[in-house]
Amino acid sequence: MTSDIQERALHVLETVFGYPAFRGQQADIVEHVASGGDALVLMPTGGGKSLCYQIPALLRDGVGVVVSPLIALMQDQVDALAEVGVRAAFLNSTQTFEETLRIERMVRTGELDLVYVAPERLMTQRCLDLFEDSHISLFAIDEAHCVSQWGHDFRPEYIRLSILHERFPQVPRIALTATADQVTRAEIAQRLQLEEARQFVSSFDRPNIRYAIVEKTNGRKQLIDFISTEHAGDCGIVYCLSRKKVEETAQFLNENGIRALPYHAGMDYAVRAANQAQFLREENIVMVATIAFGMGIDKPDVRFVCHLDLPKSLEGYYQETGRAGRDGMPSNAWMAYGLQDVVLQRRMIDESDADENFKRVLSSKLDAMLGLCETLSCRRMRMLEYFGERSGPCGNCDTCLMPPTSFDATVPVQKLLSAIYRCDQRFAAGHIIDVLRGVESERITQWHHDKLSVYGVGADRGEQEWRAIVRQVIALGLVTVDHDAYSSLKLTEAARAVLKSERKVELRQYQKPVKQKRAAPTRGYAEMDLSSTEQAIFEKLRWWRMETARAHNVAAFIIFGDATLREICKAKPTSLDELRGVSGVGAKKLASYGDEIVAIIAEMV
Ligand code: ADP
Ligand code: ZN
Repeated sequence: MTSDIQERALHVLETVFGYPAFRGQQADIVEHVASGGDALVLMPTGGGKSLCYQIPALLRDGVGVVVSPLIALMQDQVDALAEVGVRAAFLNSTQTFEETLRIERMVRTGELDLVYVAPERLMTQRCLDLFEDSHISLFAIDEAHCVSQWGHDFRPEYIRLSILHERFPQVPRIALTATADQVTRAEIAQRLQLEEARQFVSSFDRPNIRYAIVEKTNGRKQLIDFISTEHAGDCGIVYCLSRKKVEETAQFLNENGIRALPYHAGMDYAVRAANQAQFLREENIVMVATIAFGMGIDKPDVRFVCHLDLPKSLEGYYQETGRAGRDGMPSNAWMAYGLQDVVLQRRMIDESDADENFKRVLSSKLDAMLGLCETLSCRRMRMLEYFGERSGPCGNCDTCLMPPTSFDATVPVQKLLSAIYRCDQRFAAGHIIDVLRGVESERITQWHHDKLSVYGVGADRGEQEWRAIVRQVIALGLVTVDHDAYSSLKLTEAARAVLKSERKVELRQYQKPVKQKRAAPTRGYAEMDLSSTEQAIFEKLRWWRMETARAHNVAAFIIFGDATLREICKAKPTSLDELRGVSGVGAKKLASYGDEIVAIIAEMV
């Protein structure tokens, strides 16, 4: 019985989706759900959650219902399934009444394999009645963390999804999320009444993503350098904190020859939706966005995610960077971070109207984020540890690749702390640094700070170097930034021990930003390691893919992903049989596009 299900599952994987093997826990999950079990699946973005419910829905009798909050993305999901020959549709508020009736009829008569619904739609009497009248194979609850009130994606309608268990006790349910933290997990299980369900927890590591955090000197300039040296022509996302900065950065990128679009919640809905659609469908666009952009964006070939501002928490940072490289190919997560970021985030917490308790939570989340920025050890190790996972140094982050050195900073830190103290804890970082460096300015003479014993005692270090020290001292909790109008620096209780030389301080050695000398690759990431013939084929296939996607009115990646195109270039199939062996080419796509692809290859080699 069991092995029969396994065999059938593998057959569907190969013939429908064109993949040779399951990844990670997919096989176990598929088998469990296809056999009628409930499941709670915790898998990182790009782990392959969709197949975990799509294949069981194909193996079981009846229609699989997928609950998803992302109405805007349902069309793409349905298009992608249609491309591989799966009968899917959605029910949501964007449809006409006639369309709704047509889809409902297909659900009733079992002419569909999968139907996507938004949670608010599902909760209507009409929809519940429809499903009671129909044969339902399973319920898949996607983005299940939306049920959690602690997460930032909370959707009140999700809470009511526990009704599924009560009204359809015999139908298996599978809830899926990429949220890594334990509190949210427990909350999902409890609220969706999935305590009895089998939990499948995958590693949250994303080995193909390279993490790097650099000192911010001139953020936008650094961003341009990064994109043009590492990702010319690639698709990526740049996150900024404010709407204004989103607009400015997008404009700046465009002025510098990088195609960019803005996205934030303050934009006109139609423009925002059009920008999202364009980003999804085209290949070399950079989306500059606030965090309002991204949930459920399943574009597999996002090659980089940049942060120009410090995120509020590691949870957020990990989720945002996780949107890179869903296809498993090499990708970058890059962030520029500076003292101003720390000051700003601290002030935002202080000034928010949250209660003290909640402020403490926010503050400790920010501390964890700062800890990551200032760590001397492997960034990945640090993040995975935060999510409760043990690992060793990864060899694929900036601290592994270029280990930072640390130094005994006790003396300079003492100088800094006493300067803050001598200036009556009423001045911001810029002024304190000027005092330490012995800068001559009106402001300094006005306050007679040139008469202080600390004046000029730090002249041996540059301004950037001092800023790096201030930042780290804040991250260590020796100094806080006051939320008065001046962002003045204040000493904490912990500073006392350092001033009295009872505690040593180790800091990360400041490294002058080196101008990247590497010649800019003219090729994107997907084409790396391809021979010149293969690159030429890749270009040709990409062009063919774009034309085909336009003709079918779907996103380019729905035709074939970069990973599949790359494999085709390597394999250079001369017959349909050879093409069949390429990962990502299932029976339907072989029938639809096989001849065209084989012809392109024949012409090129
Ligand atoms: P998630 O929803 O977990 O973020 P997806 O279901 O969108 O991930 O899958 C991510 C990418 O990996 C997709 O392009 C998908 O086609 C691909 N994928 C999933 N499972 C496999 C597999 N077993 N073999 C090859 N590719 C896979
Ligand atoms: Zn590492």
